[in-house]
Amino acid sequence: MAAVSNPSRTPVFRLLTIASSGFGSFMLGIWGINFGFGDGVAGMSAETVGAVIASLCALSAAGAAMSFFAGIDESAGFVFNETHFDKLTGVLSRPAMVARIGKAAEETIRTGDPVFLIDIDIDRFKQINDQIGYSKGDELIRAFTRRLRANLPEGLAIGRIGAGEFAILYPDADFTMSMATIAERLIHDLMEPYDLGTHRQSVNVSVGIVAMPKDGVDPVLILRRSNLALQNARANGIGNWSVFRPDIGQVADYRQWIESELHTAFERGDFDLHYQPQTDLLKGQVVGYEALVRWEHPERGNIPPVEFIPVAEETGMIGPIGEWVLRKACRDAAHLPEDCFVAVNISPAQFMTRDFVGLVEEVIRSTGIKPERLELEITETAMMQDRARAADILKQLTAMGISIAVDDFGTGYSNLSYLIDFSFHKLKIDRSFINRIDTDSNSGAVVSTIVGLSRALGVHAIAEGVETEQQARLLQAAGCEVMQGYLYGRPTPLKIENGHVVAVEAAGEPSLARSLY
Ligand code: C2E
Ligand code: CA
Ligand code: CA
Repeated sequence: MAAVSNPSRTPVFRLLTIASSGFGSFMLGIWGINFGFGDGVAGMSAETVGAVIASLCALSAAGAAMSFFAGIDESAGFVFNETHFDKLTGVLSRPAMVARIGKAAEETIRTGDPVFLIDIDIDRFKQINDQIGYSKGDELIRAFTRRLRANLPEGLAIGRIGAGEFAILYPDADFTMSMATIAERLIHDLMEPYDLGTHRQSVNVSVGIVAMPKDGVDPVLILRRSNLALQNARANGIGNWSVFRPDIGQVADYRQWIESELHTAFERGDFDLHYQPQTDLLKGQVVGYEALVRWEHPERGNIPPVEFIPVAEETGMIGPIGEWVLRKACRDAAHLPEDCFVAVNISPAQFMTRDFVGLVEEVIRSTGIKPERLELEITETAMMQDRARAADILKQLTAMGISIAVDDFGTGYSNLSYLIDFSFHKLKIDRSFINRIDTDSNSGAVVSTIVGLSRALGVHAIAEGVETEQQARLLQAAGCEVMQGYLYGRPTPLKIENGHVVAVEAAGEPSLARSLY
């Protein structure tokens, strides 16, 4: 049954009501006359007077009935509009969308033609709203809806089902391209910054997809499943999409657990930093260390950063955690060899915070690290969200003397024009190319191209995830001389007592890592 239906009555019902009110009054009029006027009034026969009065009665009763219905229509229309459409955006409201999903489910059961539900959510919309204020938040949602509409074929049902969450019913028959292409295009376009007059606002979106009837036909279940798929997409990083699978529920529970634990864990001091050496083969020495955060939970043990960093990004906990990492790494640098830098990973959410540059300045000042000894690893995705702003932030950081490395290079964007706008010093070739370099000639070609590109741009190149001698040889042949990976040393804790380094736990593998003491 539709969750919202227009209470206006059917035309037949109305006609009957109007006619019967009229007829009833007419009869009443006749009856009154027969009693009242015996021989007539003002020269007219009693019959004529009766007929006139009866007709007037009939007319006014029918009129009253009509105006009663007009009143109902007006208020019904009002209630219908209020509840059926979302006031801010004009798309369907949540209850109306639920009703539409129900209708689509009936249709798909009857015809067997699949219908997809695409659930799109703006990550951390609540925090954005708090940050920019509700009226700018509303403006953002309106602009977002306009862009969403413009990106979809006409006639699809679109609903706003949460503050920053939208659902779309997409019948299989309307597909002109693959679901992957549809999802990726939507994500790409919706993540372009929004001009809000006062500033440009960037947002991240996550997308979850379910198929009816395969994943169910109950609207509430369908929406829960699309949301699980969405959470799953979000857990895989920024701007992702995911289709529902039955095992996703467990993933969502785990993610929920991480979210509920993160804050306490941070306060309790569960976090630590490990350091992994970066070795220059030409110089034959370690030139820097990448700081990698570690979470040792008292009951569940080690929880890998790929599992909790995305949750921290989404919940805003990346702010305090990222600041702690930066501060600790800069402090620890005092215990690393003088000629080595320390590389710190910066999340996109952190990089784009209002006063990231101010924070870096303050940390450098308070820890006393020389800016030349600090390197920030920033992914392409972080830089691409708002290119103008990112370029400005990078310029300020570079002016302070800090080095910038583009992390996971080669995985994000095929359009490299952004490299021209940005100040950076290093391309960090993604591990996915290195681990296939000895089996897949394309990976070799990509690596040589990246090394060539870095030379043309006058920046350094480093390979990450180097595990075998063979990979190292091929990398050197491709012109890459600086490497990081298990072959040269695993990430290990820095143990400091009374201000002195007392131990760096054994790297496990034969290591070229320079001893720290
Ligand atoms: P990443 O920046 O690409 O870091 C390198 C990852 O590769 C690390 O995983 C490291 O332990 C692993 N690795 C290093 N050498 C090898 C190798 O030879 N083979 C293989 N298979 N792996 C190798 P880890 O520590 O689990 O970190 C994963 C990701 O989590 C990092 O990827 C980074 O994106 C993120 N992350 C780690 N620490 C931080 C942090 O402090 N802040 C932020 N924002 N992100 C962090
Ligand atoms: Ca990194
Ligand atoms: Ca990487």
